Formats: sequence, C-alpha cells, structure tokens
Amino acid sequence: MDQRAGAGDPDGLERLWTPYRLAYVSGEDRPEGGYERPAGCPFCLAPSLPEAETLVVARGESVFALLNLYPYNPGHLMVCPYRHVADYTDLTEAETVEVAAFTRTAMRVMRTVSSPHGFNLGMNQGAIAGAGIAAHLHQHIVPRWGGDANFMPVIGMTKVLPQLLFDTRDLLTKAWPAA
Ligand SMILES: [Zn+2]
Repeated sequence: MDQRAGAGDPDGLERLWTPYRLAYVSGEDRPEGGYERPAGCPFCLAPSLPEAETLVVARGESVFALLNLYPYNPGHLMVCPYRHVADYTDLTEAETVEVAAFTRTAMRVMRTVSSPHGFNLGMNQGAIAGAGIAAHLHQHIVPRWGGDANFMPVIGMTKVLPQLLFDTRDLLTKAWPAA
C-alpha cells in the first residue's frame, strides 16, 4: 500500500534532507496487521524497548517524547501518551496537561541544542488528515530553519539512518531537564 498517498511531491523531502543524503524511503517497518492494534503499535512498543534500540528522549508520568523514525527535519520529536488512544478528546486532563508541558520543554531543548528559527507543532487526527499511525495520538514538534523547505509535507516517509537518529536522541536526552 502507498503510505505516502497525499504526501505531494516526494522530491520535496529530498530537498528537506540535504544533510542526510543517505536517507532512504521505506515502509518496511509497517507491522503485520497494520497499526490499528496495540500489539503492532510502535508507540506502544517504544517505551519498553532497550536503551540501545529506543528513540525515546524523555519519559513523563503519562506521556513520553520520542524521535520520529521518518522525520521531516532533524530533531523531529513526537509526544505521545503511554495509553493507546487515537483522539485528542480521549486524553485525560493529566495527559492533556503533560502533552502541553512536554511540547514546551521540547521547544526549549531544541532551542538549546540546535537553534531552530521556528517550529511546526500539531497533531494529525485520523488517517485522512495525514496521521501515519492514526490509532495512537502523537503531537509533532518539528524544528524549522530558514531555507529548510518552503513547505511542510503532511506525511513524511523518509527514513534516516538509525545511527543519526540515535546520535540525535542522545543529544536531546542530555539536554532534557530532569523532572
Ligand atoms: Zn499504541
């Protein structure tokens, strides 16, 4: 299946990814049975992975932050509730507050480590709206720099080499303030 349906011009991603020419396009990580079941949900799995394998940057009481395996830009983070819930209105008050707090902290951390000029923040609600993993809510925090691109693709499927992602994870984790 084409997970990039609606993504627009794929050449745009290549322009976004000039520093990462080794990036490649892949949908091979899609789990058997798709993303609809928690058993196949990478956001449900991520917090329990060993340190060497997880892209989790910070852990809170009810939410966590992790790097996007298919980033729009270097440092593209997502904040997810631990619970497998799809809709923003399904979040508890505590989760809602912590998603907001983590989003603000992520912005501060990124300003410290990579001085972005701006950010795109937001949630795609439902596959029709561009959510790659619609079944598990995730708030995107995408750092932006002047000249990185003149548009933002709604769906990115460009995969960065894991080593680059783990280096970025370590950088952000070190800069993330202790709770
Ligand atoms: Zn999940």
